[in-house]
Amino acid sequence: MLAARLYGTKDLRIEEMPEPEPGPGEVKIRVAHAGICGTDLHEYFETPRATHEPNPLTGATLPQTLGHEFAGTVVERGAGVDRVAPGDRVCVRPIRTCGVCPRCTAGLSHLCTALAAIGVTAPGGGLAQYVVVPADAAVPLPDGLSLEQGALVEPMAVGLNAVERAHVPWGGSALVAGAGAVGMGVLFALKAHGVHDVTVVEPSPARRAAAERHGARVLDPAAVDVVEEVMRHTRGRGVDAAVECSGRPEALDGAIRSVAAQAPVVMVALYSGPVAVDASVVRLAELALLGAEAYPDGVFERVIEHMAAGRYPTGGWLDHIPLADAVAGLHDVRDGRCVKVLVDIPSTSS
Ligand SMILES: [Zn+2]
Ligand SMILES: [Zn+2]
Repeated sequence: MLAARLYGTKDLRIEEMPEPEPGPGEVKIRVAHAGICGTDLHEYFETPRATHEPNPLTGATLPQTLGHEFAGTVVERGAGVDRVAPGDRVCVRPIRTCGVCPRCTAGLSHLCTALAAIGVTAPGGGLAQYVVVPADAAVPLPDGLSLEQGALVEPMAVGLNAVERAHVPWGGSALVAGAGAVGMGVLFALKAHGVHDVTVVEPSPARRAAAERHGARVLDPAAVDVVEEVMRHTRGRGVDAAVECSGRPEALDGAIRSVAAQAPVVMVALYSGPVAVDASVVRLAELALLGAEAYPDGVFERVIEHMAAGRYPTGGWLDHIPLADAVAGLHDVRDGRCVKVLVDIPSTSS
């Protein structure tokens, strides 16, 4: 089968490898679509998290097949699997956890200190024709959802968790910094939570257009003073919450200066290093700086329910590319030319 395997920084090869076969408790999936996201950019352009030393939890090493946002059809199951059957359409919750650390035993396994992810630091990955995953990672899709939507459940779950962390009041207002896929997921999740006054800050014209099409008020941070605009819009009060999805230090600074007193600022972006925060702004307005990581148990299922109710429209923010163009897709996402790139996986190698 064909797979896109990462050998090191900026070295992704699309090559033939043997098809994996499911062992006990595992399922084999024929992948239909796999998304490219900010994590993949970090893996490809910066430093792969998988190394030549086997991952202590999962045994993963380089080369690592990329792709942790994917959906497909179950083709085979190993002994003891009754959760899904061949023919079922599934998406995959990629995180793998140790089950024994203090966070896992406290019910916070998505924050496991040994956390690994399929397609990053666990064997397999969705940028391949077939993948074998533990059966408990396969989440069935209801009949009304497409495999394209299935491949979006993972990034939308990241956005929904960020919004659930913020507890924005119904009918309230919010600022979203960055309109990549997670930013779009935050926008959709805010609307699902009754928050329709959403300002999205985004320098890329393509991404601003996508957010605007889906009901956001958009600001170009290169053209306007974001904090001034937000304060004018809210008559000096500030928005009820901000969600920082861009990873840019100036966006986090804008977020803490744009929220109302005692409001939450949720950080869900990937930060490439330490980011300075003006602590006096946080103290004087009694702000709540919150992190949001991955997705606790139940978030995938809630995304799927919202999708089935039509709350994650797919118009105007998805680009499809063939597996052979995966490296070009990484550049397109990094350069902001697209919001979300889905790689279409061919069903045959020829
Ligand atoms: Zn991702
Ligand atoms: Zn753990």
